[in-house]
Amino acid sequence: MEITFSNKIDNNFSLLVVLASKKSEKNSSLISDKSIKDFVSKIKKLPEFKKQKNFSENFFVNDDKNKLRRVHLLKIDDFKNCVEVEAFSGQKFASFETAKNLNINIISEDINLKNIKNEEFISAFASGFNLKNYSFRKYRSEVRKIKTSIKKLNFICSNFKSAQKLFNEYEKISKGVFLTRDLVSEPANKIYPESFVENCRILAKAGVELEVFDEKKLKKLKMKALLGVAQGSVKPARVLVMKWKGLKSSFKNPLAFVGKGVTFDTGGISLKPSGGMEDMKWDMGGAAVVSGLMYALALRKAKANVIGIVGLVENMPDGNAQRPGDIVTSMSGQTIEVLNTDAEGRLVLADVLWYVNKFYKPELIVDLATLTGAIIVALGSRYAGLFSNSDDLANKLLKSSTYIKELIWRLPLDSEFDKLLNCNIADMKNITGTRGAGSITAAQFLKRFVGDTKWAHLDIAGVTWSNSGTSISRSGGTGFGVRLLNNFVKENYE
Ligand SMILES: [Zn+2]
Repeated sequence: MEITFSNKIDNNFSLLVVLASKKSEKNSSLISDKSIKDFVSKIKKLPEFKKQKNFSENFFVNDDKNKLRRVHLLKIDDFKNCVEVEAFSGQKFASFETAKNLNINIISEDINLKNIKNEEFISAFASGFNLKNYSFRKYRSEVRKIKTSIKKLNFICSNFKSAQKLFNEYEKISKGVFLTRDLVSEPANKIYPESFVENCRILAKAGVELEVFDEKKLKKLKMKALLGVAQGSVKPARVLVMKWKGLKSSFKNPLAFVGKGVTFDTGGISLKPSGGMEDMKWDMGGAAVVSGLMYALALRKAKANVIGIVGLVENMPDGNAQRPGDIVTSMSGQTIEVLNTDAEGRLVLADVLWYVNKFYKPELIVDLATLTGAIIVALGSRYAGLFSNSDDLANKLLKSSTYIKELIWRLPLDSEFDKLLNCNIADMKNITGTRGAGSITAAQFLKRFVGDTKWAHLDIAGVTWSNSGTSISRSGGTGFGVRLLNNFVKENYE
């Protein structure tokens, strides 16, 4: 889909959408065709248009050349901010996507809302379309070839140059979102630890420094909790470190983002049931968000020092796989009895969290992981779970979440939950053996590896993938977290 901005209608349009302000009676001077212009003006005078808050109707209009044209009149009411505009246009997207190869022209009257300028409105509207348009269909061959439904999208407004400029900024963030969606959508025979790294080479071009730890290096670092998960797979483990040096000062106390990257999770010897196991291709959702976030930050040249680090493994049953009851020594020196090999994400994160905290002394750590099924029981697919040892950090994340509309909900941590992890023959066990509070005890487990550093954990198991789609994504990977954390960095650390 090609998105352009101009002050002229492309007369070959297949659909003309008119974004009409509820206030102004004046007709847009940008519509050159007199018949269409008069028609729009007539509709706007109707009581239906005036009364109906969400007026949105399709019409067929005879233009000056007596040709029948499709025109959609969409009344623009008020929005609190540009994120609301993005969600609104994303929701509208489907209703315009009615045929193949459409050339849609969207013309906007001078819409100056209470808090939003005209060019801000248009660029946000375009961004909502852009985010919603993404689809992952690269494996559809010539046999069932995909024809794009909307080929061209031309936005027409008086201040089109400033709108284009603002849209370019949105586009940088959307590229991060799309990288995340690509990574979670790829099947596990395409994305495994080594190929995940290769897919992230694109970040280097944007100025991110990449460092890859192979098995030899991981052994040297004594990341035995992470390596224990990987030992049943023929695909070797990797850890990918991504550094964005957005400040001229030295790379001291960066912001750290950590992601769980289990590229496929069979459960290991504690094998999962087969129904729905294909969903486990996106058990690397946390790592995908961290990569997408780092890409967005680099593309928009964020003025912050940020480190992203992801632990990449495949969890498979095999003759060499880790067994329930095995005891591993994590990089921190703390020992873990692995009672369930399907509670592997925390084992991977334990070593990566410890590493980043020890070697980079980050100002804060935010980790993301599709960690527990229990979080879906608690919060469904609407909210991600938030856990933190810092009220200040939690509140900053909640503020960005409310603004960006990627919802998170804080759940408690406390020493009584922590005690449930204590184990007789090792320092801790990887599951509690009790039925309750599964997401909380998983977070308590991670907390044992971050010391006193300000830390937050987002359990994104319920929000990484959506079968029904969201206002800004189709069915599939949502990219949840990239826009939220981009805003979090921008608002608090730049
Ligand atoms: Zn698992």
